[in-house]
Amino acid sequence: MIWKTLGKTGLQVSVVGYGASPLGNEFGPADVAEGVRAVHAAIDQGINYFDVSPYYGRTLAETRLGEALVGYRHKVILATKAGRYDAALPDGFDFSAERITRSVDESLRRLQTDYIDLFQVHDIEFGHKQQIIEETLPAMLRLKEAGKVRFVGITGYPLQMLRDVAQAVDVDTILSYCRYNLLDTTLDDVLTPLARRRGIGLINASPLHMRVLTDKGAPEWHPAPRRVVAAAEQAAAYCRQRGVDLADLAMQFALQHSYVAVTLVGMSKVAHVERNIRSVGVEPDPTILAGVQAILAPVKDICWQEGRPENYEPGAVEKRS
Ligand code: NAD
Repeated sequence: MIWKTLGKTGLQVSVVGYGASPLGNEFGPADVAEGVRAVHAAIDQGINYFDVSPYYGRTLAETRLGEALVGYRHKVILATKAGRYDAALPDGFDFSAERITRSVDESLRRLQTDYIDLFQVHDIEFGHKQQIIEETLPAMLRLKEAGKVRFVGITGYPLQMLRDVAQAVDVDTILSYCRYNLLDTTLDDVLTPLARRRGIGLINASPLHMRVLTDKGAPEWHPAPRRVVAAAEQAAAYCRQRGVDLADLAMQFALQHSYVAVTLVGMSKVAHVERNIRSVGVEPDPTILAGVQAILAPVKDICWQEGRPENYEPGAVEKRS
């Protein structure tokens, strides 16, 4: 394993982070016992960063991760979120100070711990920018002062909104997803320069583009336009013909980022933990990488609409178009 410093938090984080959304069945039903084994295998092999949210599996992922971490909590850096819950409910998104303050106690209970290392606003694009800046983040910063959380961050998809909020409030970290991998590298156009300048910890989630960059391919709910998914299927076939796994290449590519401290990959299986760790410090084969990049070039950097319309990124296309 390789560890890097997560910006001004000073936390030493493993470059591969454990994304716990699959533990909440977000990619299909997860085997619970195998999920526990995957968490323990990750810790045994040097992964010390765990990312979860009450949203994943509508609290299921937090509960399962909390159970798996009994006896291991002191070995890990635990990151969770607040503000996004269950889209089917009227209060499915709630970025009010009152809800954020209640949310941390609920997460502490489910995660069976008395502190959260990193508490993040989950998907700020579903809120109003002004509320995130003037109410949500100040509430989180009060929780930091109270000692319930050690650091405070923001997460989301549209890069410009993340940048605007990070310019307005002194956050410790920024997490974005599907914005630095073989299909999209625009993280570097918008957020990386700001994060570097300000010493903000930068977290890159979904190096497999939420399973698009794997042999299994996109889950049915995936928001990317169909032409993106089709090009990735072609890239997977190209790799297979050459005895290479596209997921390995995608991990190797993402892990080479010079500023991102931790790359979060979703895992609920021991085999995926072992496979992803094997990509640490490995350079992608240049010929295969060039071949894959040529196949993906026509669909590179296509982003989709996410959140409230006023928060869409300029140029974002309709989901699943
Ligand atoms: P991902 O790109 O990491 O893909 C995960 C999927 O790929 C899962 O189905 C997993 O089983 C599969 N997989 C993992 N390793 C594999 C391998 N070696 N070979 C083949 N398949 C493999 O997408 P993700 O899970 O959405 O993102 C990673 C994590 O980042 C999440 O679990 C979550 O913790 C975090 N995240 C946060 C936000 C946010 O805060 N807004 C958004 C997205 C993701």
